[in-house]
Amino acid sequence: MSEILRVENLTQQFRLDKSLLDKLHWEKGRITLRERVVKAVNGISFHVERGEAFGLVGESGCGKSTTARTIIGLNRPTSGDILFDGKSTAAMDKGERFALHKQMQMIFQDPYASLNPRMTVMDIVTEPILFHKLAGSRQEAEQRAYALLERVGIRPELASRFPHQFSGGQRQRIGIARALAVNPQFIVADEPVSALDVSIQAQILNLLMDLKEERSLSYLFIAHDLSVVRHLCSRLAVMYLGRIVEMGSREQIFEHPSHPYTQLLLAAAPKLTGSSIAGYEIPEKEMPTVLDLPKGCAFCNRCRYASPQCETELPALREVELGHVSACHLCGKK
Ligand code: SF4
Repeated sequence: MSEILRVENLTQQFRLDKSLLDKLHWEKGRITLRERVVKAVNGISFHVERGEAFGLVGESGCGKSTTARTIIGLNRPTSGDILFDGKSTAAMDKGERFALHKQMQMIFQDPYASLNPRMTVMDIVTEPILFHKLAGSRQEAEQRAYALLERVGIRPELASRFPHQFSGGQRQRIGIARALAVNPQFIVADEPVSALDVSIQAQILNLLMDLKEERSLSYLFIAHDLSVVRHLCSRLAVMYLGRIVEMGSREQIFEHPSHPYTQLLLAAAPKLTGSSIAGYEIPEKEMPTVLDLPKGCAFCNRCRYASPQCETELPALREVELGHVSACHLCGKK
C-alpha cells in the first residue's frame, strides 16, 4: 500500500477578536487589550494508506471536524502541511487544486443541511458531474446520476423530488451519491451516521464499506462513537483538545488501549464496544477550554493517574509497540 494522505504537524487556530473594539476588555477597573485565539488543532500528524479507512475519534470540541474541514480545503491551515498523493496541497496551483477537489470529497454529518433544499435530487447529483465536465451532455450526466442513486439505494423515479421529501437515512444516501458523482479516490466522512437512528446507521455503514471495496476508496472517518469506527476502520487516532493522544491499529486501540483518555472513551460505551474498563468511572469534570490550554497534559483534570509532572509537562507521543503510540507520562510504566 502507498500513502494517499499525509497530515504533518497541522495547526488550526481562529482569532475570535477581529476588530480593535472586539479586543477592548474591561478588567479590574481598567480597559485592557486582549486577543482570544481558539486553538482548535495543535500540531497533529498522521497518514492514510491508499484503500484504508482511518478513524479520527474524540468528544465534541476535540478538533476532529476542524481537521476534516482543513483537509478538504474549507479552512486554510495556520501551520503545518497536508500532502495528497505525495504533493503538498499548499504548493498546488489553481488547476491542481481544481483536480484535487475532484479526488477528495466530503460526506457531512447533517445530510439535510448539506443538500440544497431548492434543488431536486437529480440536480444535486448531476451538478458536480457537469461542473467537472465528466459527461458530454446533460443526458449522459443524468444517466450517471440514475445509476449512482440506484447504487446507494434511492429509486431512480424519486430523483425529481426535493431533499425535504426524504428521510434522514435517504438524505445521507443522496449525500453519498453526490460525493461519488466525481469518482473520488478519497472521502472525508464527518460523523456521517451520528444524526441517524441506530438501525439506519448500520445500513449506511454497510453501504460505505461496500463502496470502499467496489471503488477502492480511502476514507478519513470522523466519529465520536468508537463502535462506529471499530466496524469500519483498520487504524485510528484518538484526539483530545486538538492533539492526538493515541494512535494505532483497531486491535491495539480496542484490545489494549494505553492512554487513560482512550480507556475512558471505551468505559463510556460499554454496551457498544463490549469492553468496559472495570472501576473506571467517568469524571464529572469538563474538558479545559481551547482558549486557554493547560501547560501540561490537557487530560490532567479528568485523569485518575495524574501526577504533579502531568500538570507542568506536556507528554509527547511515544511508541508503546510497533505502530501504536500514546501521549502519556505513564506510557510504558503502568
Ligand atoms: Fe493522565 Fe498524566 Fe497520562 Fe495525562 S500524562 S493521561 S494526566 S497520567
